[in-house]
Amino acid sequence: MTGCHSSTVNPQRAAVWQCMSNCGACCRLAPDERHEALEVLNESQIKTYMDLVSNDGWCRFYDTGSRKCKIYEDRPDFCKVASLISLFRVEKEQADDFACKCCTQQIKSIYGSRSKEIKRFKKILRMNSNNMSR
Ligand code: SF4
Ligand code: SF4
Repeated sequence: MTGCHSSTVNPQRAAVWQCMSNCGACCRLAPDERHEALEVLNESQIKTYMDLVSNDGWCRFYDTGSRKCKIYEDRPDFCKVASLISLFRVEKEQADDFACKCCTQQIKSIYGSRSKEIKRFKKILRMNSNNMSR
């Protein structure tokens, strides 16, 4: 995901990550926009990644209409948040915070920092956080 750095994780902040439906921001794979993601992939993963990129910069398996992955059950490992956390060598207790930050940056990058998508994502995170503190 764009802007993912394990060093940006703030261990003080409790966050509970959840993928937001009707988003798909992380399925934009244009290599010039995803330097951080590409840096942590091995040679074989980079080949798989590059094979996914369409001319328009989106993944060829991304359905822009429904904003869904067409091969969700068979998507590559690096598309899974759990794998990303491992690739970026994030500690288990910081995994949620890391995933929340990655998604936030990617959603802002794709839809804008004042988009309805980022507002919806922040609302989901707030609700999760409130539920955790009950
Ligand atoms: S950017 Fe985050 S919230 Fe959006 S589809 Fe990807 S994992 Fe889900
Ligand atoms: S394979 Fe699916 S989850 Fe992975 S980038 Fe493509 S559309 Fe997104």
